[in-house]
Amino acid sequence: MKIFSSPHQLAHTPELELHNGEMVPYAEKASRLDALCVAFDSVSESADHGLAPVLAVHHKDYIAFLQRAYGEWQQAGRSGDAFPYVFPIRRRRALDLSRIDGQLGRYAFDCGTPIAEHTWQAAYWSAQTALSGMADVLAGARTSVALCRPPGHHAGRDYMGGYCYLNSAGIAAQMAIESGAARVAILDVDYHHGNGTQDIFYERGDVLTISLHADPATDYPFYWGHADETGEGAGRGLNRNLPMPRGTGWDTYRGALESALETVMDFAPDVLVVPFGADTFRGDPISHFEIDTPEYSDMGTLIAQSGLPCLIVTEGGYNIDYLGENILSFVSPFANAFD
Ligand SMILES: [Zn+2]
Repeated sequence: MKIFSSPHQLAHTPELELHNGEMVPYAEKASRLDALCVAFDSVSESADHGLAPVLAVHHKDYIAFLQRAYGEWQQAGRSGDAFPYVFPIRRRRALDLSRIDGQLGRYAFDCGTPIAEHTWQAAYWSAQTALSGMADVLAGARTSVALCRPPGHHAGRDYMGGYCYLNSAGIAAQMAIESGAARVAILDVDYHHGNGTQDIFYERGDVLTISLHADPATDYPFYWGHADETGEGAGRGLNRNLPMPRGTGWDTYRGALESALETVMDFAPDVLVVPFGADTFRGDPISHFEIDTPEYSDMGTLIAQSGLPCLIVTEGGYNIDYLGENILSFVSPFANAFD
């Protein structure tokens, strides 16, 4: 079983974020990637699949914005990380404005996703890492693991948020479709709802999106992830949200996961993509579930038992001391099942 990563993902180093009314140290630290990588004996370097698969999911104007934003921030005389502070919500038009602050607000939905000097480079290689893993699966691997950072599941077709800039899992799923897969399922097991992934595929009949997450009535991203969001048009019935209350432990989570896997199997996908967040961990500093390290192995076992070709893509997980143990616990059953 191959594990993919790229050192270019370390280049994204925002200093601060706005959290609960305070500017605090950025939780999505580059050292998270080191913790993920050292958990494995061998990590393969991600290949460059180019920009075309990224543009198959994200709007070209948004990509152009990500590429130029930090340069324009500097040209405006700013230093430090670029933050939005005004947003075109409540029927304001998404105008194509030249001032960087207008652009930041147009393409962001929160203040937790600053753009630093090398953000584009890291986000690009996070997407390439997921693509490398998917290429491995499409070449016949039963399971492949993409150690992606920054994460991606909050990023939509033309927006960033929640530490996410490019939806790496979604980009990989689209690659599978364009390579001939008739159906792809995305099963998101991060603590937070995968709102960007939901939005990207909401009207699609060929991609099933399911997310298990903290109830958005109490937790980020609040405005997505409710149980009554079930897809539209060709995608009607093909989005499923399973929100759970704070304090959820493995016993409750297991039942939701088994139900989600039944939905996956009914869909009969050619490929399964699993955005995995270790922020469901009981020791996570920003989240409120109670899953313990050995239970990630039970979670991995249930998903591996689907027998589907599977790409695992890393999302959140902010207790860096336990991040390596938790990803290893989750991934090991896949190796045992097939290798
Ligand atoms: Zn998360």
